[in-house]
Amino acid sequence: MPDIKCKVLVIGAGPGGYVCAIRAGQLGLDTVIVEAERPGGTCLNVGCIPSKALIHAAHEFHKLGVFAGRGAIGITATSPAIDFGATQKWMAGIVKRLNTGVAGLLKRAGVRLVAGTARFLDGKTVVVDTVDGEQRIRAETIVIATGSAPVELPSLPFGGAVISSTEALTLDRIPARLAVVGAGYIGLEIGTAYAKLGAEVTIVEAEDRILPQYDEALTAPVRKRLVKLGIAIRTAAKARSFKDGRLELEGAEAVEAEKVMVAVGRRPRTRRVGLEELDLTMEREFITIDDRCRTSMRGVYAIGDVTGEPMLAHRAMAQGEMVAEIIAGKNRAWDKVAVPSVCFTDPEIVTVGLSPAEAMSRQIETSVDQFPFQANGRAMTTEREDGFVRVVARADDSVLLGIQGVGEGISELSAVFALALEMGARLEDVAATIHAHPTRGEAFQEAALKALGHAIHI
Ligand code: FAD
Ligand code: NAD
Repeated sequence: MPDIKCKVLVIGAGPGGYVCAIRAGQLGLDTVIVEAERPGGTCLNVGCIPSKALIHAAHEFHKLGVFAGRGAIGITATSPAIDFGATQKWMAGIVKRLNTGVAGLLKRAGVRLVAGTARFLDGKTVVVDTVDGEQRIRAETIVIATGSAPVELPSLPFGGAVISSTEALTLDRIPARLAVVGAGYIGLEIGTAYAKLGAEVTIVEAEDRILPQYDEALTAPVRKRLVKLGIAIRTAAKARSFKDGRLELEGAEAVEAEKVMVAVGRRPRTRRVGLEELDLTMEREFITIDDRCRTSMRGVYAIGDVTGEPMLAHRAMAQGEMVAEIIAGKNRAWDKVAVPSVCFTDPEIVTVGLSPAEAMSRQIETSVDQFPFQANGRAMTTEREDGFVRVVARADDSVLLGIQGVGEGISELSAVFALALEMGARLEDVAATIHAHPTRGEAFQEAALKALGHAIHI
């Protein structure tokens, strides 16, 4: 096979890599992208998209169950049932549509997609194992976007009944009993979905509370809901081993389970990429980057999960877009005020910018206030009044430093929260903006008004 020569070579077609390649192509750079599996990466194939589809299906099914039981708001349903095979087919259909979409976008931008696993030979050359043999590619600039993979616990290796999120998203039937190790993003999102689908779910968390990365005020409504859904929570407990359907724990009683999903974090995919051929500065297994995503080697960039926290698709995409522009000669650097994070639990959690504790640890004097959904008309009309929106503003000039919230459907407010921070909005700007009624967004305006000392609806 003749060698390929190009200006930009991107390794990995996840959200980081494919966005980088599309933007590079749009900018007229001769670009090649290599992907070992399917375009779209973790997010689109075994992450964000299928998990949110599963969460949606589970939510809809659970709702019918509520109506069947109590006839809430005057609606009754009889004997709701789920054909999980059909649900899986529907989920796979969405993923396939997006795979095809990403491949089409790459093509339209003039990017060549090479299918196979890439390994570095040196800082300018990789060799790709393709179905037709080895393909060498030489590039002026290389972008590493190889993403991440689930962390495996030595005491609970993946295989058989012990699964990662990847297998949990493609189960052929709903397990009667599911144990989830790790009450982080994945454990709670997927664990809640299976509980709504009828599985008996137990969540095991090493720390003394669920979602330890968030403050307790934000996680309390989620915990309450987990309990309401019948999910057992074992905190300050570590999984020790799994044998004969029993998950032995350190710090708590053993759990009977048909399947055990281990979701204790993700590690960068830097093994078997030939990184030893390069002279890259690493922090543990993550690739160290600067504010332009440059690695310690000239002409080699790294983006996305492989560069560490926060391991989120939209951060990877933003880095990918920026790097393509830098390679094209534009003057760009990472100047984002905040990366929003959304946890798609029930209710959902959104955080953007600084929490009250983070602001305090930086010795910033703040004005913090929150508005509960209990006083929001829209929340009442949807029967979900749990949660609140909280604002954190600088005390002296009321510039917003952080916005957090928990509530049903609050993920959709993450955009307006992030926009407010990026635009340097003050409490007065939010308070003076007309928010349509009745919407959950009004809780943002009311939180700002409350911080200014004159909330209307509370
Ligand atoms: P990846 O998406 O991991 O893509 C890397 C790609 O590189 C892969 O396709 C891989 O096959 C390829 N590759 C690796 N090595 C090679 C090689 N040597 N040669 C060729 N190709 C290679 N994030 C959110 O923001 N929102 C969510 O709701 C969300 N939900 C998630 C749910 C789950 C269950 C999981 C597991 C993750 C979720 N994430 C979510 C995280 C999100 O998926 C990642 O942050 C995102 O995919 C990172 O993008 P990336 O481009 O860095 O890497
Ligand atoms: P996580 O870091 O969110 O949570 C892991 C949890 O496992 C932590 O609470 C940790 O204390 C616990 N833990 C660690 N070792 C343990 C042990 N031995 N026994 C019991 N508990 C243990 O990790 P995750 O849920 O695997 O998700 C990985 C990453 O994927 C996230 O950090 C996030 O970046 C990304 N993700 C994002 C979303 C989203 O944006 N909605 C959804 C899913 C995943």
